Order: sequence, then C-alpha cells, then structure tokens
Amino acid sequence: MPLQELSASLHNCQRCKLAKLGRTQVVFGTGNPTASIMFVGEAPGSNEDQKGEPFVGAAGKLLDKLLESAGLSRAQVYIANVIKCRPPNNRDPEPDEVETCKPFLLQQIEMIQPKLVCTLGNWATQTILGKKVPITKVKASAIKLERFVVFPLLHPAAALHQGNLLETLHEDFKKLRAYLDRMDAPVTQAIPAAAAAPTPSPATQPQLDLFGS
Ligand code: SF4
Repeated sequence: MPLQELSASLHNCQRCKLAKLGRTQVVFGTGNPTASIMFVGEAPGSNEDQKGEPFVGAAGKLLDKLLESAGLSRAQVYIANVIKCRPPNNRDPEPDEVETCKPFLLQQIEMIQPKLVCTLGNWATQTILGKKVPITKVKASAIKLERFVVFPLLHPAAALHQGNLLETLHEDFKKLRAYLDRMDAPVTQAIPAAAAAPTPSPATQPQLDLFGS
C-alpha cells in the first residue's frame, strides 16, 4: 500500500481512545516519502493537532534549526510520530495507545525504507528499540537493527523546557552529521521504491555502536 493510501486509511481512525479525547485530526507525517532519514517523535501537540503536521510549533522551529545545522532540510527527510493523535492536555501516551498506533509507524518505515531512523526522546526511542532504555544512555549513538540504524536524540521540546539541554542537542546533531559523513552511501540520497524490503523488526536485539568506540 502506498504511503498516501495508508495516510488516507487513517483519516478517521477510531482504533484507540484518543479518537474521542479531543483530537482535531490525525497527524500522519510529512516529508520525502523516499527519504533515507526519518525523524520520529512522540505525539502531536496543540499546534500539530491544528495544522495536521508534526513538529510545527516551537519544538518544530528548533528541529528545523537543528536539521539545518546538520546540513539537512525537511524536504530531504520524513517526520512522523509514534502516536498520530494528540493526547489530551499533552499527557504522555498510554501503553494501549502506543500498542494500537505503533503498527502504523512501522508500516510507514516499511514503505519509506529509511537507512537511518532518528528517534526524538524516550518514547520514540523505546518504541523503536522495543526495550526500556533511557535516552541518556543511548543518545547520539548508532544502533543497528535488522533493517535500519537507529540514532536516538533528545526531543527538542525537552531542550525548550530545560535550557541546559540545548547545547547537548546541538552537539548531538553535530555527531549525527559526523555519522552521516562516515556512512558508506550518501544517506540524503533517495532510495528507489523498488528497493523496498519486508517489515522492519524493531524488537530485534540492538547492537550498540557508540560514537568514538
Ligand atoms: S492515535 Fe493512532 S490508533 Fe489511536 S485513533 Fe489516532 S491514528 Fe488511530
């Protein structure tokens, strides 16, 4: 199923309770459908819920700057969230909501076939890795899964709330740039749709390949 069809199929999704807890619309994702790099956040906030796009508020503006600092643009990458509907009062997603919505993120990854998935914050990182590992232990490291590499980063919203994390986030995006430069193939190059492979297996035991090791 093409990405657009998956998006259309979720237009009025009622599969979890977030459908009836005040969302304006489903926020599917945006960007290059053949991107080699995906960014995955947690869930839509108020601005995202209104506009129907991920990362369009203050955290989105910071993400744009961070992308630029790493030589990337929104047009090159694809951006999505684990949860496609806004939780009320920006509360954390609940486990049943993550379990219900996660398959759609995995389908997005399967269709886009990124080489690199940059998870933003604890929720996205733990969802993709399939294990409870603190973001502070794995951030700015390249973790090889079966189908792609995960590169966890702090969530930009965390840096907006705790200013001392801003410098760390900038440093980590420098490490992302350095990692991209070290990769064999230029990862900003689109992957042909014909190269599509089976569903990724996020629960696969990750192999840590930390920077500088
Ligand atoms: S959060 Fe996901 S599963 Fe729940 S209603 Fe929205 S799209 Fe459907």
